[in-house]
Amino acid sequence: MLQCPKCKKGYDENYAFCEECGVRLISTGPHITMQQRNLVFDRIERSVFFRITRSYTWGILVFAILGFVAALFFFYLTSGL
Ligand SMILES: [Zn+2]
Repeated sequence: MLQCPKCKKGYDENYAFCEECGVRLISTGPHITMQQRNLVFDRIERSVFFRITRSYTWGILVFAILGFVAALFFFYLTSGL
């Protein structure tokens, strides 16, 4: 339920203008609120995505370091001291 800011008459949410005084109601809202909701969801989705990719990158980095150490160890063993 919306209220006209000028004459304080109550309206349904699908009204765009006040029937009483013609003032534009905040009821253009559905689109805006949907966009805001999408933005919030988008932000959450993006942060989750970043977190996943970040942990994935860390996994690759750790794996690369382990592989490098293993390769060094392998060369150390096969260098025939
Ligand atoms: Zn009004």
